[in-house]
Amino acid sequence: MDCMFCKIINKDSPAKIIFENDRVIIFKDYRPQADTHLLICPKKHYPTFLDTPPDELAYLHKVCGKLAEYLKIENGFRMTINNGPQGGQIVFHIHIHFLSWICDIGDKKIELELD
Ligand code: 5GP
Ligand code: ZN
Repeated sequence: MDCMFCKIINKDSPAKIIFENDRVIIFKDYRPQADTHLLICPKKHYPTFLDTPPDELAYLHKVCGKLAEYLKIENGFRMTINNGPQGGQIVFHIHIHFLSWICDIGDKKIELELD
């Protein structure tokens, strides 16, 4: 499949991956718009928000919450989903943009406790 994020997930394309498990991957956006700009993606390919099952969306949101707690930025982060060409979506593999201007995550890998 010609999907850039699937290529990153399959390690066919490089990215600064900061966390992954069997269900989700978090990597740095290569054109950051904040001090920390991460992309949270399910490993399974769903093109858009509307294609993504609610339990998968709930899991992605849970990951964002754990990430904010891990980084201790509960008071300063933003989550965005662009949906569809006229909604600013460029990569058609669902992802949540996770941005913060109060911390720079750097390139380190992190550990998140997820079920
Ligand atoms: P969208 O507009 O689809 O919500 O956002 C796609 C995001 O993915 C953009 O912020 C863009 O900079 C980022 N991006 C696109 N291709 C790559 C890539 O190959 N590697 C990384 N790390 N980020 C990418
Ligand atoms: Zn994909």
